[in-house]
Amino acid sequence: MRLVIIGGGILGTAHAVAAVDRGHDVVQLEREPEARGATVRNFGLVWVSGRSEAELDHALRARALWEKIAAEVPRIGFRPAGSLTMVRTPQELAVAEAAAAGSSAEARGFTLLEPERVRALNPALRGTFLAGLHCSQDAAVESRQALPALRDHLTATGRYAFHPATEARSVTDTESGATVRDDHGRTFHADVVLVCPGDAHNGLTRELVGAIPVRRVRLQMMQTAALGEPLTTAVADGDSFRYYPGYAGSALDTLNRDQAQTPTAAEHKMQLLCVQRLHGGLTIGDTHEYAEPFAFDVDEAPYQHLESVAEELLGRKLPPIVRRWAGTYSQSLDPDTIATRAQADRHVWVITGPGGRGMTLSTVIGEDTADLLDL
Ligand SMILES: Cc1cc2nc3c(=O)[nH]c(=O)nc-3n(C[C@H](O)[C@H](O)[C@H](O)COP(=O)(O)OP(=O)(O)OC[C@H]3O[C@@H](n4cnc5c(N)ncnc54)[C@H](O)[C@@H]3O)c2cc1C
Repeated sequence: MRLVIIGGGILGTAHAVAAVDRGHDVVQLEREPEARGATVRNFGLVWVSGRSEAELDHALRARALWEKIAAEVPRIGFRPAGSLTMVRTPQELAVAEAAAAGSSAEARGFTLLEPERVRALNPALRGTFLAGLHCSQDAAVESRQALPALRDHLTATGRYAFHPATEARSVTDTESGATVRDDHGRTFHADVVLVCPGDAHNGLTRELVGAIPVRRVRLQMMQTAALGEPLTTAVADGDSFRYYPGYAGSALDTLNRDQAQTPTAAEHKMQLLCVQRLHGGLTIGDTHEYAEPFAFDVDEAPYQHLESVAEELLGRKLPPIVRRWAGTYSQSLDPDTIATRAQADRHVWVITGPGGRGMTLSTVIGEDTADLLDL
């Protein structure tokens, strides 16, 4: 079969990987000269630790697929480095204890570590904390390298072509498939068209499937200069317990009731996540904004909060901040789905809405769509 995939982010690219793996031909269109949406703005975390019980199998399968892809495409920078969620109060410690004793703790690779064991695992953590919840299943990829690396790999099969700076303007279903028209006036015929537009819920997406049950979420991020030492695991703070469904339970209820977030963290719905890039710098975030219209500029107060939490955990000054940015992702409003798949016509599907777990789950979403369409 021949597929046209619209959208050059990780969701479109993961669908291309799944289809080419199954022997099909793929043409992928990206409206920008290089994708510049959520995928290249994210942490690159393949995050198993906080997933709900219902999502856990998907997340573990997705991680295994990332590892398999990395064996063929090392340039994606997959590292099974794990994570430490750092606990600084008794209420947070209770949530970590409950997680480490939970029924899925073994599947997630959870172990609760005292400060000396935290430092043995990740010597850069020389600051103040009560404990660290280690998750051996968490991993990371280099998001900005992954897209070109995967495309090069696909191109080498001879069954894949990428068209950058090419916006899909219309998709017309026909008896034998569907035809995509781009903004250069070219047409591409396919047996199946998959539209993976990220947060572009308007334009072509709306024309094809109307208003689908998704919303946009905006996050602020930053990047430091090289740390000068390895940060051997990804690091999260106890605020992250509040945002990940995997920690729900009475200990979390107590945390939410008895321990207020700092005003800045509460106002911007913040958690600390921190991962070291291959070049040594740290990617640090994040905030969550749900009400549109979103600000076009970044707000300084959340950065000061993130710097102070990171410095408290590291027990040192952060290297200079060299980049700041914001990104938006598309999040499905249905809590029971890992992505929104909407069929526009016989041969045309729109797939988006994986939310803040889209980098993690993209590999599984691509495979599941291929199964669903019997590719
Ligand atoms: C700041 C931030 C941090 C995150 N951190 C993580 C993380 O650590 N781990 C994790 O699992 N997830 C994370 N996420 C979520 C994850 O990044 C997204 O869910 C995922 O990247 C979505 O991929 P996508 O391909 O759907 O969207 P995108 O990457 O936005 O790609 C969509 C692409 O479609 C193109 N497009 C749209 N319309 C057209 C058209 N008509 N024609 C041609 N091209 C078109 C756009 O130009 C864009 O390049 C984060 C997200 C953000 C914003």
